[in-house]
Order: sequence, then C-alpha cells, then structure tokens
Amino acid sequence: MLYKVNEIFETIQGEGSFTGVPAIFVRLQGCPVGCAWCDTKHTWLVNPELEVKLDKVMAKAADTEQWTSLSAEQMLTLFESEGYQARHVVITGGEPCMYDLKPLCNTLHNAGYQTQIETSGTFEILVPPESWVTVSPKVNMKGGYKVLQSALDRADEIKHPVAMDKHIEQLLQLLNDTDTGNKLIYLQPISQQAKATALAIAYCKKYNWRLSVQVHKYLGIE
Ligand code: SF4
Repeated sequence: MLYKVNEIFETIQGEGSFTGVPAIFVRLQGCPVGCAWCDTKHTWLVNPELEVKLDKVMAKAADTEQWTSLSAEQMLTLFESEGYQARHVVITGGEPCMYDLKPLCNTLHNAGYQTQIETSGTFEILVPPESWVTVSPKVNMKGGYKVLQSALDRADEIKHPVAMDKHIEQLLQLLNDTDTGNKLIYLQPISQQAKATALAIAYCKKYNWRLSVQVHKYLGIE
C-alpha cells in the first residue's frame, strides 16, 4: 500500500498527552473537512500533477501542496537514512484516516516504533489496537462531514479546539454518548488567542479537563 505524503520531519510533539516527546511526524496529503482556521490548508487537495520524488519533499523549505508516494517499508528506510532517533511516530494530515493505516502502523510497531494518529474523527479509524488515537473533533465544518461515534469511542484522547462557549457546548454534546472513563479530555485554544486560552483554562478547571497549548508554536518550531 502506498501513502501520499506531504512531509516527514523529526521534532518535539507539542500537543496533548505526548507533549515534549521527540517524534517523527508523517503528514499525509488530503483532507475534505474544510476547517476555516486550518493551519495545514496545503494538505487539502491531492493534485496528481503535484506528485514529486521523495528528495523534493524532504527538501521543502516551506509548506507546499507537493506530495510523494511512500510505502510503510520506504518510510522505515527513510527514518533510518535521516538518522531520526525518535521512536514515537505521529501520523497526521490532512486527514490521515482517509487511508487504511493498519499496514503502516503494523510495520512501524514491528520495527519498535510507537504510533499516534491525529484525526478529526470524521472517517473510520483503521489502526491496530496498540496505536494511540487522538481525536480532535471538527464539528459543522464546511465539508459537511460528521464526527463519528465510532471515532470518539476509539479515541485514547479527545483534544477539542476552542475559541468560544459554543465549542464547549459542542464537546459536551459529543461526549453525551461516549464513555469517557478511560479517555483524556483536552481543550486546545485555537490559534493561541489570549481570549481562547482564558476560556479553555476556565472550562478545564470547571470540568477537570486538561489544557493543550501547542507548545511548538510558542517555541517557534515545526
Ligand atoms: S481536519 Fe485538520 S487538516 Fe482537515 S481542514 Fe480541519 S484542521 Fe485542517
């Protein structure tokens, strides 16, 4: 199976429960969800004319819509040739759950890596049981996709983007039919806005949820 890859890089995970953990990010191409405030709009379209060779993707100096095709085995080889030391692999996008991620995750697990999936929860999540699943639910977005109950049920952590009270109401509604006993719930202020951060802190205290502040953006790293 081949995956369409927008970029691969090693950094520090800046969000959620793995904050601070060295991680290899695999950003897959393609997302139809249409969040207005999306910070990876360059991953939305899969334009066949923008398929390039791996070296072009690895040499990117800025965000572009160019992508390359890679198998799980080719990714492993790349991790080794790049000299990555991280053992935590974050598979993100775009919307990574547009792909069957089982072959990729199984290959990485067999090679000693841990996997984390970051998804909007609007596609069926096809991963092995050992993968850590982060659902960042995207509600009422332009693309018209609904957050799936099966995605919320599979989530190990639910990381909800917030800027207004209505986002909390959306989250509470989503959690109505979800057993949260074994899940971590995070609020993540949208775009580091001060007002959104204050709101998130207030609701974290109210509901005993956690705060995720996108540490990488404060540090100015990828
Ligand atoms: S789901 Fe993620 S990648 Fe897709 S539009 Fe929303 S924020 Fe962007």
